[in-house]
Amino acid sequence: MSDLQLLVTGCKGRMGQAVINAAAAQGVAVGAGIDVGDALPEALAKCSCVIDFTSHHFSDELVAECLRQGRSMVIGTTGHTAEELARIRAAAEKLPIVLASNFSVGVNTLFWLTRKAAELLGPDFDLEVVEMHHRMKKDAPSGTARTLVEILAAARGLEYEKDCRHGRHGDVGARTPAEIGVHALRGGDVVGDHTVIFANVGERVELTHKASSRDTFAGGAVRAARWLADKPAGLYDMQDVLGLA
Ligand code: NAD
Repeated sequence: MSDLQLLVTGCKGRMGQAVINAAAAQGVAVGAGIDVGDALPEALAKCSCVIDFTSHHFSDELVAECLRQGRSMVIGTTGHTAEELARIRAAAEKLPIVLASNFSVGVNTLFWLTRKAAELLGPDFDLEVVEMHHRMKKDAPSGTARTLVEILAAARGLEYEKDCRHGRHGDVGARTPAEIGVHALRGGDVVGDHTVIFANVGERVELTHKASSRDTFAGGAVRAARWLADKPAGLYDMQDVLGLA
């Protein structure tokens, strides 16, 4: 066992349970777990690092308490508002934080391939992202789909907020080159599928990742907590942890 003691927030949830199992598999101690209604300060005092898979509504409280107690953070929760993200970025000036919309090695490879394909294929290809998740998922599009759109937008000199088109309905007119479509499907128990489509006249390239187990995300989050243990304050992502940055 290492000195690392994890606080698992959302410990009764799908990802929280998977993180507890992944920590055991990697020989990392879980000092405490909390879920809705449990006291955060007492639990955090017993731990050195938080792994958070809860709801973005909990973000401000969690970040403030980690700042008060000087604890590092691995944040897997998605769907943060711009204001919540700004407070996470500000906290990272004082704390080491890994913030990642996806902790799997496969999806981080998809991020790399998406950047590369956007550069190689150039502006003639229309860009669309399709994601599918289980029926219980609350936020849309997924954090991973958002990251994919941000990568495509950066490659094209576009902006997520301005140029991302969330689905289409009604008399929307022809597609313009300056838009990136994103479409969220929900159903059943799908752990997480993402496809990036590059479509030109006469040909189309599709890059797809399908997750079949949450263990891949949970294992990556525990790996991120171990990697973070000797890092200075700063905002990191899974590309940093995996050495892909
Ligand atoms: P879930 O609903 O199964 O679990 C969330 C848990 O958090 C629940 O037990 C809930 O009671 C708890 N919770 C909510 N608010 C809380 C609060 N204020 N204090 C303490 N506990 C609280 O959801 P899930 O499928 O485990 O997903 C959780 C989050 O993780 C979502 O935002 C999801 O998008 C994200 N996620 C990220 C990745 C990744 O790789 N980054 C992978 C899967 C899921």
